[in-house]
Amino acid sequence: MSPSIYLDHNATTRPCPEAVRAMLEALQVAWANPSSTHGPGQQARRLLADSRAKVAALLGCLSAEVVFTSGATEANLMALRGAVVARRPHGRRRLVVSAVEHPGLLAQARQLAEEGVRVDLLRVDAQGRVDLGHANALLDDDVALLSVMAANNETGVRMPIEALAEMAHAAGAWLHVDATQQAGKLPIDVAALGADLLSVSAHKLHGPKGVGALVVRKGVGLAPLMPGRQERARRGGTENLPGIAGFGAACERALATLANDAQRLAALRDRLEAGLRAAVPGLRVHGELATRLPHVLSVRFGDLAAEPVLARLEREGIVASSGAACSAGGTQPSHVLLAMGESPAQALGGVRFSLGRDTTEAEIDAVLDAVGRVIVPLIEPQPLAA
Ligand code: PMP
Repeated sequence: MSPSIYLDHNATTRPCPEAVRAMLEALQVAWANPSSTHGPGQQARRLLADSRAKVAALLGCLSAEVVFTSGATEANLMALRGAVVARRPHGRRRLVVSAVEHPGLLAQARQLAEEGVRVDLLRVDAQGRVDLGHANALLDDDVALLSVMAANNETGVRMPIEALAEMAHAAGAWLHVDATQQAGKLPIDVAALGADLLSVSAHKLHGPKGVGALVVRKGVGLAPLMPGRQERARRGGTENLPGIAGFGAACERALATLANDAQRLAALRDRLEAGLRAAVPGLRVHGELATRLPHVLSVRFGDLAAEPVLARLEREGIVASSGAACSAGGTQPSHVLLAMGESPAQALGGVRFSLGRDTTEAEIDAVLDAVGRVIVPLIEPQPLAA
């Protein structure tokens, strides 16, 4: 059953018709093994190459730099573990990761720490931006990899990637960027960013689930996580061609409409933000002074916890999220909001609206109407200023 108003596009997006068509074709027509040398195999191989070129075009990299994975979680693991293994013989045994990375990446870093890798967490400021002075202090000649996301999945806050790339490279470290939430929403040019490694996921940009990519820049000698012949020996296993074809088609579609979509979404997000500010006493907008992705708005409704807010909105046919979908359902305060200096109680209050290609102005107005009717009455009146 579809909710009438879906504002949880950072959790996942609906596959676009172009992606669905491409997947069906891969399942029904180009279903042979791309490694086979016969005709049908060659047909599948062409589809693989074609899809790879479409992903590369969206990300501003070479086709040969795209390594297909099962999603961003695997791409992140490939980057972290691959860098640690490859650089250990050169005396680089440390990882630096930002405190607001995706929970999956932080869990990977913790696992590496248990295996003896030193991991340092990079601080963010109250707006959710990484602290460049702290990054500079942490980067040294024993750092294998610095990992910082392009934009945060909970708040949409964008990170100063170009500046971080310069710092990392000055210290001889590689830079990994988890661009899962930015890809398909704002332009990405891997070369201009200066990233050595970059993760993306198809299902965040109207492609299918279970497929993504790690961009490995030319000359970056990453150790493979899953050795094998495929993906230029960087990731073994018969390719998920239906998924990859859907991913390629979704990237092609995203690239074609990206500039328009971003502008339209920013206007809708600003309308939602302005409407909430006007209607909700004590509204807090996370990262309000930072540069944010155009489609994301993370707020706290005064002292209200997120759960009752989301439950009431859902009864009105509106779905949003309390932060990273992967941690939804749990009652742990958001690590992102804690890192931004919110108290544990406040960090339970983050409500994330993430808009998408199909979101309309009428839907935004319906959300504002519902908030006025069912959320505002829950908020304790603010004490009058003395
Ligand atoms: N990184 C970020 C920033 C994300 O938002 C997500 C999805 N929640 C992931 C990684 C994981 O992506 P996937 O579902 O493809 O493993």
